[in-house]
Amino acid sequence: ELRTVASPWTLGPLHLSNRVVMGSMHTGLEVLDDGGVAMAEFYRERAAGGAACIITGGIAVSDEARGGPDFAVFGVGGADERFRRAVAAVHDAGGTVLAQLFHAGRYALVGGLTDRDGRPQRAVAPSALPWAAARGVVPEELTADEVRRTIEDFAAAARAAAAVGFDGVEIMASEGYLVNQFQSPLTNLRDDEWGGSPERRRRFAIEVVRAVRSAVPDLAVTIRLSGADLMPGSSTDADVDALVLELLPLGLDAISVGIGWHESRTPTIQASVPHGAWIEQARRIAGVVRASDHPHVRVIASNRMTDLRDSEAVLADGRIDAVALARPFLADAGLVARSLAGRFDLVNTCIGCNQACLDRSVVGAPVSCLVNPRAAREVRFPLRPTAAPKRVDVVGGGPAGLAAAVDAARRGHDVRLWEASDVLGGQFGLAAEIPGKEDYAGPVRAARAELVERGATVHLGRPATLEDLVDSDAVVLASGVTPRAVDVPGADLPHVLTYEQALRDGVPDGTVAVIGGGGIGIDTAAFLTESPDEAVRAAEFGARWQVPVSDEIVGDLPQREPTAHRSVRPGDLVTVLRRSGKFGHGIGLTSRWVALGRLRDAGVRMVGGVQEYLRIEPGRLWLRDETGDAVAVPADVVVVCAGQEARDELTTGLRSADVPYAVVGGARDARSVDAVRATSEALEAVRRL
Ligand code: SF4
Repeated sequence: ELRTVASPWTLGPLHLSNRVVMGSMHTGLEVLDDGGVAMAEFYRERAAGGAACIITGGIAVSDEARGGPDFAVFGVGGADERFRRAVAAVHDAGGTVLAQLFHAGRYALVGGLTDRDGRPQRAVAPSALPWAAARGVVPEELTADEVRRTIEDFAAAARAAAAVGFDGVEIMASEGYLVNQFQSPLTNLRDDEWGGSPERRRRFAIEVVRAVRSAVPDLAVTIRLSGADLMPGSSTDADVDALVLELLPLGLDAISVGIGWHESRTPTIQASVPHGAWIEQARRIAGVVRASDHPHVRVIASNRMTDLRDSEAVLADGRIDAVALARPFLADAGLVARSLAGRFDLVNTCIGCNQACLDRSVVGAPVSCLVNPRAAREVRFPLRPTAAPKRVDVVGGGPAGLAAAVDAARRGHDVRLWEASDVLGGQFGLAAEIPGKEDYAGPVRAARAELVERGATVHLGRPATLEDLVDSDAVVLASGVTPRAVDVPGADLPHVLTYEQALRDGVPDGTVAVIGGGGIGIDTAAFLTESPDEAVRAAEFGARWQVPVSDEIVGDLPQREPTAHRSVRPGDLVTVLRRSGKFGHGIGLTSRWVALGRLRDAGVRMVGGVQEYLRIEPGRLWLRDETGDAVAVPADVVVVCAGQEARDELTTGLRSADVPYAVVGGARDARSVDAVRATSEALEAVRRL
């Protein structure tokens, strides 16, 4: 089925066995003071799992090129030894690895940083223009001499990469970092040989490629280029295509097409961005390359691809040579091998939540993965079979319970999973009903398949009782949460629904008031106002953001019939109500603005500062607003998303029966349901058995 994905190809001097590249991700492992052990294991698992070529997280080409304190620089603080170990691990696993040469430019978060001589670190850029999230750091404008020295820094870093054994280098010239900043009239206001006209703005990228190519003539050299900056007033498609044409004669082996700047207000990689949304950018650049005098330079497409069946569709017509997937390799290190073996059922799906990866990396915290809490922690949680297999009972088939059960089963424990409802998934099952979150069904499907494969016993539709558990060697209680009711007159009327009822059974037509504007309230409003059909949403996305979007790529799940009566008729009002705090509290930094923007676009009214809910009547909800006035909100239906309560009934019995147990996730702390914490606690609990 994956004929093209599985076909061998060459990338410069490299012979690669399949078309899947692991894209660059900043993990923070690059600077861990462990001799590179954790980074080596992270990459080794992914090479062993079938990634034909791995691109490292960005390696700064100088001190001032660092994006923050957790960026490595060749030659500084043992970095070379760490990378040598990582490269050797990838090679031992049969893979190849390119070092990404990185310069943050004005994106450097240098507050408190010093250079190797102990001086405060400066940030530099083509022009002294800070970006919105610069935290007061105004970059210094590079002098013409410093521009030349920076080009040499790229070449020196390429030589250092060759010296530690990398198979090649990727020049980071996308996502709004330094090389990209030179190209853009928004960030390059120079009027010297490096700016002032499109030709002169392109010169920095050209000279960097020229210098790197001649520094490492025997290595693969690729560039990560911005297919579109998605910044009003920045480089046009014609500017980018002109740069491509000028780069092609310089001996590049591939162009990997990135998208958007970090400060762009167009969503690029959030869950609600349609699958394959950015393929058309790569196709455009492939068209330029194929029509040039250098048609054999490789073009690599990326972003919003989670399933290699979609990659097959992208690659099949030959325009694009390979795909680069990044976050899916956090979710499942073995995604290529499993997919090539036809075991799509076992592939754990990246749900695009950003919660354990990007949201952490932007604040310099260690990266992992919500659906694979071992990610980037492979050394701490090795996959070795247990020496002492036990009977492990896991109560609850939501994300935490599934994470616990899968890890215990992988290590050879005798696992029994108990789920009170008829289906696995818990909060993930509910989330999968939200338009744009269909991928949440993927990790549930993968866990179910793996538990079956490993012979675990799965009890559905029956809550575990104390009698079921008394003989257990260890119990993981991951029984999750129940929606909290609101104490308001009228809350028992038939048109008042919990969010579980709304998402599972649908909502009748009419105006809706959503009580609660946290993550679940925002999701519920999206459920009410957005099409469940991804092709429809892809068309809407393209129109909204004025970008060409392919409608051929639909993710790994068949499009489902909408839940009965799920949607509000056009024109029916949805009001989201919040007592205090921010709307979307609990949604990660990189996704919240997108989620709120979607609701604003859909005409959802958001009313904050509600002092109290007074009563619910047929057709309306009375509340006291922030000014203290009693007002009525039209509401043919009221959906309550006012928090959760822990389901932890079994703890007392287990304690008195002296059965070892651990409570994890929402069952342990329902105040802020945090799925990253839940799955991580589940893994840690199993490892303590
Ligand atoms: Fe994907 Fe979320 Fe895991 Fe990041 S944390 S890799 S977005 S599933």
